[in-house]
Amino acid sequence: MGSLLIKNIKYLVTNNRDSSLLENVNLFIRDGVIVSIDKDKPIADEVINADGMIVYPGLINAHHHLYQIFTRNLPQVQNMELFDWLKTLYELWKYLDDEAIFYSSAVGLGELLKTGCTTCFDHHYIFPQSGSTNFIEMQFEAAKMLGIRMHVSRGSMSLSKKDGGLPPDSVVQTTDEILKDSERIVTKFHDPTPFSMRQVVLAPCSPFSVTPELMKETASLAREKSVRLHTHLAETKDEEAFVREKYGMTPLELMQSLDWVGSDVWFAHGIHFTDKELELLAKTGTGICHCPISNMKLSSGVAKVAKMLKLGVPVGLGVDGSASNDGSNMLEEMRVAYLLHRLSEGRQAPTGSEILRMATEGSARLLGRNDLGRLEVGMAGDLFMIKTDKLELTAALSDPEAFLSTVGYKGNVDYTIVNGRIVVKDGHLTMTDEEKLSAKANESFKKYMSKQD
Ligand code: ZN
Repeated sequence: MGSLLIKNIKYLVTNNRDSSLLENVNLFIRDGVIVSIDKDKPIADEVINADGMIVYPGLINAHHHLYQIFTRNLPQVQNMELFDWLKTLYELWKYLDDEAIFYSSAVGLGELLKTGCTTCFDHHYIFPQSGSTNFIEMQFEAAKMLGIRMHVSRGSMSLSKKDGGLPPDSVVQTTDEILKDSERIVTKFHDPTPFSMRQVVLAPCSPFSVTPELMKETASLAREKSVRLHTHLAETKDEEAFVREKYGMTPLELMQSLDWVGSDVWFAHGIHFTDKELELLAKTGTGICHCPISNMKLSSGVAKVAKMLKLGVPVGLGVDGSASNDGSNMLEEMRVAYLLHRLSEGRQAPTGSEILRMATEGSARLLGRNDLGRLEVGMAGDLFMIKTDKLELTAALSDPEAFLSTVGYKGNVDYTIVNGRIVVKDGHLTMTDEEKLSAKANESFKKYMSKQD
């Protein structure tokens, strides 16, 4: 894979607790792994002169639905909350095909890379009854084309309207179909080795679209195959009312009864938990992916992030699907997270540095990755770089660790490096022609929209 030297770095934010901020250092990556961070300048295949630049650990997006790129900014759902929003969108999502999945994934992953994200987890759960079974293949292909580190879920929905669930029949599958395909995808793609570029997660969609039987069997399959478990939980009051009425429990009690707590499980959102439930999450190491923009857009509520951090609940950050965000920008998510909790929690709110840790090592923990999230010797060579001699950064770097959350960085980053490879240079993707990708994705988007009733 070769070597890369990043020399003359002005500031290096490592996330390492002992020496989080380094100045005037060089960082050397060989075969995708950080070999040294010091004053040495080893001979390398490629060299970036980072004079005047600030280097951060790559951001890690721990919850997304990339397919929603093709249904963002739709006027008919802009004023809805989760259940109505989903019921309207299921009718569009039933037309997804391989091409729409490939191009929507490529567009979203491209935006993530250009804004400093180096690892993405996508929670894919839509498999239309009449559709292809190659969606996960398409997603890993798009990730490979752009050079991002990728975790994808073989998600699922099995509880349709006729059985008391939310989605229509057209987008649900049987338990047998789902488990068989889940096993196939894990065998085909999951690479558990250190510095792996692709992993698989099993992720039934939510308590209102999946039967308890499927939840339980998925947990058992995931543990047999040593892959992680993920679902949406405690996102809205409507969900809580649904679960109470159908099962006589809170959403977390339901999940606990189905073997869905533990350090191999993380939930998206986690807004409507009681304090006692937060303690259970902490005690069991069950994680939460915080998605503030989506929660604000769908009026779902504010997750008790300050309390979670205090109790030791593993917390990461994610952009959520592009129909409820409506973009794929982790830098924006960080700043919104920072401001939202300043408003709701006051002095208890997470600091700018804590938000950065949430978006890096916090998300890495949710994905079960101890090789990502910090810049130190032996960790993966995943990082992004920003030039500091710009007008909008002038006088803004008194606290480089907090800067991304407190001041916020609004443009594309100058460089993104994944696995030691330059995948964004001067704010543009290096492994694919962005203009061509955008044109092809627009064609595919029009074709997809023309299928709608
Ligand atoms: Zn989601």
